[in-house]
Amino acid sequence: MERPTTIPPLAILAQATLPTRYGEFRTLVFTVEGDAREHLALIHGQPSGKERVVVRVHSECITGEVFGSLKCDCGAQLDSAMREVVRRGTGIILYLRQEGRGIGLTNKIRAYALQDQGADTVDANRLLGLPDDARTYEAAAAMLHHLGVRSIELITNNPEKVRALEELGIQVAARIPSLVPVGTEARRYLEVKRDRMHHLIPEREAVPQSVAHGATGSDDNRP
Ligand SMILES: [Zn+2]
Repeated sequence: MERPTTIPPLAILAQATLPTRYGEFRTLVFTVEGDAREHLALIHGQPSGKERVVVRVHSECITGEVFGSLKCDCGAQLDSAMREVVRRGTGIILYLRQEGRGIGLTNKIRAYALQDQGADTVDANRLLGLPDDARTYEAAAAMLHHLGVRSIELITNNPEKVRALEELGIQVAARIPSLVPVGTEARRYLEVKRDRMHHLIPEREAVPQSVAHGATGSDDNRP
């Protein structure tokens, strides 16, 4: 698959303040030319004109982020990135609507069905005649360009993502390893790790202790 190397025109459709359990963000809905999907930017602090802004470019995963699926670690990745951005005082989460490594929700669940029958994630995609990874990053690059970020520190374990953004003219000053492995190259490893980390994942995706504690008003729910 040809990877885009030019930045498409971008349109901001709406923006507002978004308080979250991690901290306060400004959220922008945006699209890029030739792509009807509504992508999301979550901005903490004032990244405009700054160097080495911490950035997570995160692709949508409804099963992992909403339903706590243990087939991947997308929910934990997003959670960890939002914490890191707030911890650093300035940063950006770009949430791209390319579900299932870009193949869409239906194909992702079809691939899961093949995995139920014993195929691994790569073979499942190939059996469906789909690429291992169909994600592209021109929308992310367009938004970083729009925000006037001069260089970024990218939270990722995926060198392909760094390369793709650099090809789109984004200066990646550093790569910050994510706490949990992700990306096509780590996928087999991730599945093994997932089995080993089985008990850790629910803790990582649980409501933070401070919130749970405040909500119950007792120590009963503490581990
Ligand atoms: Zn996922």
